[in-house]
Amino acid sequence: MATLLTGGMILGLGQVDRIYDRGYVVIENDRIAEVGAVADLPTNRTYDEVIDFNGKLLMPGLVNAHTHTPMTLFRGLAEGVSLLTMDGWYNTIRTLELVLTADMIPASVEVACAEMIRTGTTTFADQYFYMDQVIPVVDRSGLRAVLAYGVVELADPVARDRELTALEGFLENINSGGSSRLRGWVGPHAFFVDNTPETMQVERLLAQKYNAGLHIHMSTISEEDDFCAEHYGTTAVRKMDELGMFDRPMIAAHSLTIPQGDWSILSQKPFSVVACATACMRAGAAAAPVVGMRAAGINVAIGTDNVCNNNDYDLFLEMRTLAKLASFREGRPGALSAREVLHMATTGGAQALGVGDDIGEVAVGKKADLILLDQSEIGWTPLPTNSPFTALVYSVNGLHVTDSLVDGRWLLRDRQLTTLDYRAARVQQADDVRRLLERRQAAAN
Ligand SMILES: [Zn+2]
Repeated sequence: MATLLTGGMILGLGQVDRIYDRGYVVIENDRIAEVGAVADLPTNRTYDEVIDFNGKLLMPGLVNAHTHTPMTLFRGLAEGVSLLTMDGWYNTIRTLELVLTADMIPASVEVACAEMIRTGTTTFADQYFYMDQVIPVVDRSGLRAVLAYGVVELADPVARDRELTALEGFLENINSGGSSRLRGWVGPHAFFVDNTPETMQVERLLAQKYNAGLHIHMSTISEEDDFCAEHYGTTAVRKMDELGMFDRPMIAAHSLTIPQGDWSILSQKPFSVVACATACMRAGAAAAPVVGMRAAGINVAIGTDNVCNNNDYDLFLEMRTLAKLASFREGRPGALSAREVLHMATTGGAQALGVGDDIGEVAVGKKADLILLDQSEIGWTPLPTNSPFTALVYSVNGLHVTDSLVDGRWLLRDRQLTTLDYRAARVQQADDVRRLLERRQAAAN
């Protein structure tokens, strides 16, 4: 199966960013076979399908490196609360999670996946429990994903044993076949604050056994460092390093307060920070020192976090927020260039999730994970002088995305979802949230 897309602008990204004002891409099965300028398009070939994308921009699909898809169910139910603190989470979201039932998960995951596809995300990293309910929906969506089973113990040894058993079952299941687009990782809950060093050791060994990474929340406030200073006389990063936690690939959401003296430890490891600017700003939390951590050699990706924090999945808006926040924090314009921010949402995310060899660029041999945006929408002009990098970060949004491919398969075509039923999922989700709130009310009585 060979498909030719031709006639529009291509933003290649990659080691060298290549822009073709009028370019073409040939997709053979699930990979990109050719990229070039239309002027160089061979005329003696035939294709199974030819698509003229004149008036559109083709670029790599975006990577949302931190979210919790089932939590779409809770959107609007934790307003005015910081979910970046243990207390904030425990007193709001946890009260809902305690009465959540498995049948309430699929519709909310479908809503989340649909909103990601619609706004240009083609790969995401998720962390939650009920993964047996999450996996089939994500598989059906066609998205690429790294799914981490979240281990919550809350000082309960029975819960810890149950969760660690469930974690191993999940890793065994997802990594022993099935979809090549889905990978299973380990999702420790708050380090030290919730997951004990003993639990962490088991998590690390399971990650090693199943060749998985770790997807955690880190340094949202100074909880871990305060705990480690009191109990071990050192910082959380140094204690985790001592435990060998950074030997596995790790994505650490937020990372707002990692002491600068510890950055050099992390830059030597397969470690990535996931900046979630909107979630942190809404929580009134500190701005992550993204510019400094990048300068120290730490890979930084971008995530939305859950949509109780955000409250949307549009990664274009997330790029914009992060870019502005970086300038605000550093006190200077252009602290992160638009190009750097786009790289964080594509190649940076791909590297974080361990799929940098396959995605993040429009280049020969890479997977055909691509999106198209309509340049006749507002915010793009004047096209000869308005850089596409600047437009993509500062003046357009995810609803300009018209088409999306993963593994060369269409997930969105002419703004229509091809794999999911967003309307039906929304109806089901409304029913689910009604039942959820009734159960919480009943539990409180
Ligand atoms: Zn999170």
